[in-house]
Amino acid sequence: MVQLIDLSQEIYQGMEVYPGHQKTIIWQHASHEETAARFEGGMSYQSNAILMCDHGPTHVDSVSHFDPAPEAAPIDQMALDTFYGPAVCIDISHKGVHEYISGEELQEACDAAGVNVLPGDILLMRTGTHDKYAGTPAYSNQHPGLDDSAAEWLAEKRVKAFGVDCPTPDNPISKTYPVHMMCRRTGITHYENLTNLDKVVGKRFIFAGFPLRIRDGTGSPVRAVAILE
Ligand SMILES: [Zn+2]
Repeated sequence: MVQLIDLSQEIYQGMEVYPGHQKTIIWQHASHEETAARFEGGMSYQSNAILMCDHGPTHVDSVSHFDPAPEAAPIDQMALDTFYGPAVCIDISHKGVHEYISGEELQEACDAAGVNVLPGDILLMRTGTHDKYAGTPAYSNQHPGLDDSAAEWLAEKRVKAFGVDCPTPDNPISKTYPVHMMCRRTGITHYENLTNLDKVVGKRFIFAGFPLRIRDGTGSPVRAVAILE
């Protein structure tokens, strides 16, 4: 039997956004009361409008987000295969706020979780940030981050993509963002603001997190799901 685990954060007005990003605004665009006047027999509908950043909340980055090269792919031109496939999850939640995680420590986390990262896998890393700080301002910058050696480790493992349950895989105190720079160099993308990763640590599953087909999008919200057999 297939089990589906939702790895996505909620979208709502007032949700935390990455510092400097567009805040999420949602309003009722048409109400049942208003639309009923246009129909007969009781027919009516309601619809909402949403203003939000293409990087919020649970989302995937396009290559064009972290690579300024004119040929860097926007989200609608990236292969669908990028966003679906075999995945594993490790736990790095023992690292404290603003601490750096090294490549060696990622390998240790794999060993601790009994996980073997294969080329082409999608690797999720649980920092526990969303579990601790969901819905509070602390969520936006109170988390650890990967250092240069960890970024290099991901590239050497030849993961297809990776993801974290915090706003960025880089350390919020870093000015050089080595993980995003590794992504620029390799074209490997990543997911940010995942949740519920405690439910998949140490497991092998199928990950699906398809972006919306936003023309020239620099990223897209996704419904991230772990599919377990
Ligand atoms: Zn990113």
